[in-house]
Amino acid sequence: MFDEPRVARAVREILHAIGEDPEREGLQETPERVAGAYAKLFSGLGEDPARHLEVAFDEGARDLVLIRDLPVCSVCEHHLLPFIGKAHVGYVPEGRIAGFSELARLVEGYARRPQIQERLTAQVADALHDALGAAGSMVVIEATHSCMTMRYAETTGSVAVTSAARGAFEEDAARRAEVLSLIRRGT
Ligand SMILES: [Zn+2]
Repeated sequence: MFDEPRVARAVREILHAIGEDPEREGLQETPERVAGAYAKLFSGLGEDPARHLEVAFDEGARDLVLIRDLPVCSVCEHHLLPFIGKAHVGYVPEGRIAGFSELARLVEGYARRPQIQERLTAQVADALHDALGAAGSMVVIEATHSCMTMRYAETTGSVAVTSAARGAFEEDAARRAEVLSLIRRGT
């Protein structure tokens, strides 16, 4: 599905268009290298990340699960520049729990595609609620956007924070506050 030679051709064209010489020594392999990097950055496009939640354990669990500081490496769809940060993923199981590594893969699957942070946050929360069947889910993502910090010096160090709450967390401010205080304890 991912057409690497076509991406390499397009990158060569971009190099021409910015006034560079794609044939000079340092750039000769660049189109292929960029295409290879894009293949990895956009590898989530071909998958349904919610499938990682099929490997779930029925433990009859009902208590909050929170995993903090999962890495987020994504690409903003408006500028095709990276946004990098961390995700905090919490849910209240309705019996079924997901493996911790599966939660990392869930976030990664949605991150490795042209994205916006708001949608990424919502998709992870939706997957926990709908695919895992959690009674409630809450996701907070903090990220630095290269499209801001690389272009505007005054945004250096700024962090975008997004959150999404589903099910039990939507209706219950005390539960949301519990998750937020647990997240804060780690920072
Ligand atoms: Zn952007």
